[in-house]
Amino acid sequence: MILVVNAGSSSIKFRLFDTSEKQPKDILDGLAERITIDGIVSFKYEGTKYKFEVDLPNHEVAVDFILKKLVEMKIIKSAEAIKAVGFRIVHGGTISESSVISTEVFNTIKDAVKLAPLHNPGAITAIEAVKKVMPNANLVACFDTAYHQTLNQEQYLYAVPYEWYEKHGVRKYGFHGISYQYITQQLANNLNKDLNKVNAIICHLGNGASIACIKEGKSFDTTMGLTPLAGVMMGTRSGDIDPSIIEYICNELKITVKEATSILNKQSGLLGMSGETSDMRDITNGYKQNKPNFIRSLNKYSQVAADYIIRFANLIGHDIDAIVFTAGIGENSETTREEILKRLPLLDIELDSKANEVDYDESKVISTKNSKIPVIVMRTNEELMICLDTIKLIK
Ligand code: ADP
Repeated sequence: MILVVNAGSSSIKFRLFDTSEKQPKDILDGLAERITIDGIVSFKYEGTKYKFEVDLPNHEVAVDFILKKLVEMKIIKSAEAIKAVGFRIVHGGTISESSVISTEVFNTIKDAVKLAPLHNPGAITAIEAVKKVMPNANLVACFDTAYHQTLNQEQYLYAVPYEWYEKHGVRKYGFHGISYQYITQQLANNLNKDLNKVNAIICHLGNGASIACIKEGKSFDTTMGLTPLAGVMMGTRSGDIDPSIIEYICNELKITVKEATSILNKQSGLLGMSGETSDMRDITNGYKQNKPNFIRSLNKYSQVAADYIIRFANLIGHDIDAIVFTAGIGENSETTREEILKRLPLLDIELDSKANEVDYDESKVISTKNSKIPVIVMRTNEELMICLDTIKLIK
């Protein structure tokens, strides 16, 4: 059994995989939330939902509670049945692959707190908690940044004083790498191609969103930067803006840089532009009802995504295997896919409107046979990717 953990400062998402067969099977999906506030642990097992209200003063108590519940409900024989725990870590600095959590790796995750102050501290607390509660388990870290360590300097450097990079690590790191790694591998399988020959543009459009340019099976460029704030427009994040807006709006609104940055992260994007919602389901519904605030939001969202797709197409050249849509919006919003694709006249894409609307299982082609570049929707599975990397590392 392998446990996959995605922890925040007050929550732990977890998924348990049975690894006794060749293909790991997820058997339980759960969430411990409101840690340090009061506490709720919920999970789904064999189609039934369970919920426990329990005092969770810290992550350690939460991990201990989860394990005891799994044993008590006979889902696992004992805590030792879980051979390894794979952690999703947002920022791994310049670590280029999933790694066993040695002291050195743990210190790198700690050093990256200044780059990901909202994300890494929760993961660190969770690692420390699991170490205490499960001293015999192997611990593995999988990073959202690692997959993008193949970028060239041309792609990862900003045109700022070089010292900012050398002394302060100011560079593009990129995120959603676990998802891109999974999708690229699935795409290679689907196309029956060697992984190192796959060229694709992958649009990971969830609440957080980014796009990656995959050239010869590796990340060649991506839209997020030093932090996940950069790139395409998102649910509540602005994506790219003129950096001078920050000083200007701080003066206008008499707010601090920290406050302005928080607005760019939490009150911008679809939420900021529509003034109502960050949820793409509401946006596309409002768009169909001709509401101006939803029209401008979806138009901007689609145009920015299309602008990056064409940039990345130019980086790959002529041999693009596919444009892939994935994550909550990419997988489910046919309207958003259509709006983005219709803004790419240079690529001679022909959408199969019917295929675009029909539901699917794991993946589906949504372009016609005449389309110069195939367009595919694929379901991502970051937890499975973490589980597979964890298995590889503990063997
Ligand atoms: P994250 O993991 O970044 O929190 P998700 O990948 O879960 O986000 O994606 C969340 C987004 O997906 C939300 O904007 C939600 O509205 C959108 N979404 C989910 N289902 C649909 C759907 N059927 N149609 C349109 N958008 C959808």
